[in-house]
Amino acid sequence: MSLSNTASSKAQANNPPTAGPAGSSLAARLAGSKRAPHVLLLEAGQALDASNPNLTVERWSAFMQYPQSNWGYFTVPQKFVDGRELNYSRGKGLGGSTLINMCGYTVGPKDDYDRWAEEVGDIAFNWENAVRLRKKIECFDHDLTDERRLYTDPDMATHGTDGPVRVEHPKVWERPITMQMDAAKECGLGVNGDVNNGNPLGLGVLPSTSRKGRRVTAAAAYLSDVPDNLHIVTGAPVTKILLEGKRAVGVIAKGGDVRITCFCLARYRNAY
Ligand SMILES: Cc1cc2nc3c(=O)[nH]c(=O)nc-3n(C[C@H](O)[C@H](O)[C@H](O)COP(=O)(O)OP(=O)(O)OC[C@H]3O[C@@H](n4cnc5c(N)ncnc54)[C@H](O)[C@@H]3O)c2cc1C
Repeated sequence: MSLSNTASSKAQANNPPTAGPAGSSLAARLAGSKRAPHVLLLEAGQALDASNPNLTVERWSAFMQYPQSNWGYFTVPQKFVDGRELNYSRGKGLGGSTLINMCGYTVGPKDDYDRWAEEVGDIAFNWENAVRLRKKIECFDHDLTDERRLYTDPDMATHGTDGPVRVEHPKVWERPITMQMDAAKECGLGVNGDVNNGNPLGLGVLPSTSRKGRRVTAAAAYLSDVPDNLHIVTGAPVTKILLEGKRAVGVIAKGGDVRITCFCLARYRNAY
């Protein structure tokens, strides 16, 4: 694919997604599939670079500290909170909101998954299948000291160890955590060694999407080693979705003085 930086240029690719976890994983999986189609990943923001060097070690306040990686949205005034406009941060850049989120790795209860599957009449949504798929995604570091295991004990039957998304329990815990958990034990609230194993009841320690204390973005997980057929363009906000009837068949994106018009190759294979 070549892009001209002066005039409108046309690129062909399959399904151009943007680069949050949804788009990054979709693009990487599509490009890595057997048929190895050309995939174009368009991202409005930039890649993590020297302008935000500490972003990967900042967990709770990255969304405030790195405005260049945040769209900076606020809601309209909210009637039921005294008309306040609430922070509605969204990440901007390769990795999407995983650039600025709080890295909490939470999984819903088994009963919810099974109920969703029942309601939509599709077992693909049930707990068993969700665990099967999640095991492919996760690279869970379950190396814990004996002392930590008093409070957390991952049920490895429900976790994966070879996937692209690194998950771990923080090595350093805030001091009150163990005190709170001792209190939960004493008062009968119960300590849950793995809140992500389908039963979230009790007090438990939530793992995070991080490695050795550093944030793992969706870009780090899915876009760090990409094949030649995955083309990533940053600084390219999509400005228009091209429709054919109700079907999206392409997009127009802009970046600097580049204009990219992109059509789904599968649809337009013979058109150019
Ligand atoms: C402050 C904060 C804290 C959070 N904490 C947690 C947490 O602890 N645990 C958790 O599980 N989740 C958390 N989340 C939510 C989680 O990060 C999101 O649910 C997840 O990233 C959504 O993924 P996505 O791919 O759907 O969208 P996003 O991650 O938002 O990615 C969308 C991408 O599309 C790009 N884009 C948007 N418009 C255009 C356009 N016109 N053209 C080109 N590109 C465009 C954006 O720049 C972005 O890169 C948090 C989110 C925020 C903002």
